[in-house]
Amino acid sequence: MGLGYQYRCKKCGRRYSVFLGIGMGAPGVYENTVKEIREGRYGEEWKTLFEQTPYAAINPEKVLYVCACGRWETGVDLTLYAPNDPDAVAEMKYGEKTVTEWGYLPYADSRTLREHYHVLKRRYRRCDACGGRMRRAGRQEAQSLPCPKCGEPNAPAGDMLWD
Ligand SMILES: [Zn+2]
Ligand SMILES: [Zn+2]
Repeated sequence: MGLGYQYRCKKCGRRYSVFLGIGMGAPGVYENTVKEIREGRYGEEWKTLFEQTPYAAINPEKVLYVCACGRWETGVDLTLYAPNDPDAVAEMKYGEKTVTEWGYLPYADSRTLREHYHVLKRRYRRCDACGGRMRRAGRQEAQSLPCPKCGEPNAPAGDMLWD
């Protein structure tokens, strides 16, 4: 389940919100992100690593990134995961078929990643504004995000759960 915060800037009135975690749309997000990796949208290195690692996986959780310059954004963590034991993963069932029959891992939830996978390569995110390396932030920081328009620090107007 995901968690979100809604904001309304007390200075300029801009409304903005942030959503973190896993939602109902996660399998779709997973599939799309894998497609984009395979298309090379995140670079040749990511495409090659993903394709050369049998049953490679990603984590479809949405995370918050913050930069020293004050910019922030949310997105899927593109860190790549590899199976501890590819033969064991091959026999896991997704719907009617096993991973071998699918030919790839259709979806990875956090439990699957924790129990059967390890990090193959971490992905760092670059800030569009200053080029600096963005830091992965926790939920605590999601409750004090500055206005994306004027930079005013704000407190959330409300929180919501999404699923
Ligand atoms: Zn503002
Ligand atoms: Zn920056």
